Amino acid sequence: MQDQASKERILHALLSGGEVSGQSLADAAGISRTAVWKHISGLRDLGFSIQAGAGKGYRLLQTPDSLHPLVVRPGLTTQTLGQTLEYREEVDSTQRVLRELARDGSAEGCVVLAERQMRGKGRRERGWDSLPGGVAMSVLFTPRLAPDRISQFLLLAGVAVAEAVNGQTKIRAGLKWPNDVLLQGKKIGGILAEMASDAERIEHLILGMGLNLNTAPQNIPPGIRDSATSVRAECGGPISRPRLVRDLLARLEHYYFRLLQSDFSPVRQEWLRHNVTLGRRVRADTNNAVLEGLAADIDHTGALLLQDDSGTTHRLLAADISLRSKE
Ligand code: ATP
Repeated sequence: MQDQASKERILHALLSGGEVSGQSLADAAGISRTAVWKHISGLRDLGFSIQAGAGKGYRLLQTPDSLHPLVVRPGLTTQTLGQTLEYREEVDSTQRVLRELARDGSAEGCVVLAERQMRGKGRRERGWDSLPGGVAMSVLFTPRLAPDRISQFLLLAGVAVAEAVNGQTKIRAGLKWPNDVLLQGKKIGGILAEMASDAERIEHLILGMGLNLNTAPQNIPPGIRDSATSVRAECGGPISRPRLVRDLLARLEHYYFRLLQSDFSPVRQEWLRHNVTLGRRVRADTNNAVLEGLAADIDHTGALLLQDDSGTTHRLLAADISLRSKE
């Protein structure tokens, strides 16, 4: 713990730019110069490129594209989300880890980040493949809201992911109702919301996001290549994953606070700007029935309004949607 705090102080001093003397780093962290040297070596092991200057100072040349809290935390602007960052290089499921942390009393905003997730899940117990260069992340919310608001969090997360991706790419991300983030019509992100609640109130809600960011095209499994892609595959080059995570947390927090302060309408309005579902002919599998028709709108709760060929409007709370040709 103490070690981590010293590393953070050293890093903070190095991030201010230029060459920083070993003595200044020792003073900033309140440790000896030998200890500074040890921490510099530890930072290098994490992938930081640090040059030791001729004048016995240190200069930060490059930060790694890592999800380690030492990389993600500097520059994080949120008040609540990500104040606690739990990092795993490899994990079975970030949702499982956060569920346990929530049960043990973790506060709202706790985030679990993993480089590799071995048993990620989609909806209806389908699998989510964690691809190299991706991000697996879960975020804990404790809203005092009714349980039927859960699906609004899927749409809220979609808006935040699309905006964070758009912040680093020229190609616009699109949102497919209810939980897919697409680039050029293929999926780069899946979102899952799980909760514990009683009949009246959500006790806690965990948003899980799996994102294909810097995945090389050849690392997209052949079985999903028709429907899946990555930011790197579509944009031709990598983006900064730690910056994306910071940005994503800031946007999630922004829309979450708005959802708490008012209602779903600010999120709905933003979702509509990114949507690639409405105005299209769709096939919807609701688990009980298969419907086909026009995806006409989402209502003030986030439900999809599907108009079938007889003109009847169906209000769908959840469904698997396949997009047909443009109307
Ligand atoms: P659909 O994409 O068919 O609408 P869905 O959005 O409900 O379904 P999820 O249950 O959220 O999908 O995600 C699981 C599905 O996503 C899997 O069945 C698989 O087809 C696909 N998938 C799994 N891993 C990835 C990935 N890394 N990138 C893109 N798609 C993936």
